[in-house]
Amino acid sequence: MTRPFNFSAGPACLPEEVLERAAAEMLDWHGSGMGVMEMSHRGKEFISIYETAEADFRELLAIPANFRILFMQGGGLAENAIVPLNLSGGKPVDFVVTGSWSDKSQKEARKYCEVNIAASSQEGGYTSIPDPSSWKLQSNPAYVHLCTNETINGVEFGLIPDLKSLGSDAPLVIDFSSHVASRTVDWSKVGLAFGGAQKNLGPAGVTIVVIREDLLGSALPICPSAFDYKTVASNSSMYNTPPTYAIYIAGLTFQWLKRQKEGGATGIAAMELRNIAKADLLYKAIDESGFYVNKVNRDCRSRMNVPFMLRDESRNEAFLNGARARGLLQLKGHKSVGGMRASIYNAMPIEGVQALVNYMREFERENA
Ligand SMILES: *Cc1c(COP(=O)(O)O)cnc(C)c1O
Repeated sequence: MTRPFNFSAGPACLPEEVLERAAAEMLDWHGSGMGVMEMSHRGKEFISIYETAEADFRELLAIPANFRILFMQGGGLAENAIVPLNLSGGKPVDFVVTGSWSDKSQKEARKYCEVNIAASSQEGGYTSIPDPSSWKLQSNPAYVHLCTNETINGVEFGLIPDLKSLGSDAPLVIDFSSHVASRTVDWSKVGLAFGGAQKNLGPAGVTIVVIREDLLGSALPICPSAFDYKTVASNSSMYNTPPTYAIYIAGLTFQWLKRQKEGGATGIAAMELRNIAKADLLYKAIDESGFYVNKVNRDCRSRMNVPFMLRDESRNEAFLNGARARGLLQLKGHKSVGGMRASIYNAMPIEGVQALVNYMREFERENA
């Protein structure tokens, strides 16, 4: 059976091998007589699933030993509160606002701390990233927050900014929900990274937090115990029942990622090469046509989320209907941006992007 290509922004498509493996193990995981959903999170079976997932994620993203990996619940939106509850410590924080997600983050943080907007690209409609040299960082903020891939606006930081070179010792917090595991991460520049799994790692329900050890243990007294990073870390993410099935599927995805090879590279480096090729293919098709347009500056276009408009917006429905008929699913753009959006996460093969590009050319020929 060949399945349609699913361009959903999230929850998003998963590698077929992962889904097949989960299906095969649904009723009986490794001869245990239990499905993963039915296991105690404290039993040896689930503990082995958990420990393997954690070790594989650490290896894939080359996460140094002085960082802890937490598997939490609540998604990226809960982290918008959990981060200031844990890290603000009564001090003001800096935000760089480059799209809808970092804007949501700064609004939520205002419930718990004073917020300074160090830079914003809102005026230009979130189509660029303000040059770090222009950021108005405070002298001593609790942390600096930014979203390294803006899922809705299609804006991505190619490099993680180096706060030290900007004269700041503050820890950098990144929301990497929608491009985690699509590229390597320079952990020397990061204090904390968080991401929901449902874009690039697995099903909704688990949020991965990677936190430098020295940032544990400063939560505000009002922070819920289940959201205190120190409590979560010292209980190996089992202070309360973790989202066991979501962790299991993410673990299968990590094993799939480790098996990937491309141009002499393996794992995340292989994925990055593929993601570059996929994004180049799609942006080139958009830029070469007079029919489609992507408004994001070329130096910060997302490799994962590609919004594009038809120059004639009245054809949107016809475009989407034709796409669906060809097995190209969930291409409707976010309501705040309009038009179309193709999310081309790790699990989207280049064949899917090629099929989309072929359809775009066909639709253009018939409608131009
Ligand atoms: C999807 C997303 C979120 C929100 O995730 P939820 O799981 O819905 O809370 C946060 N940040 C970014 C960048 C996202 O793409």
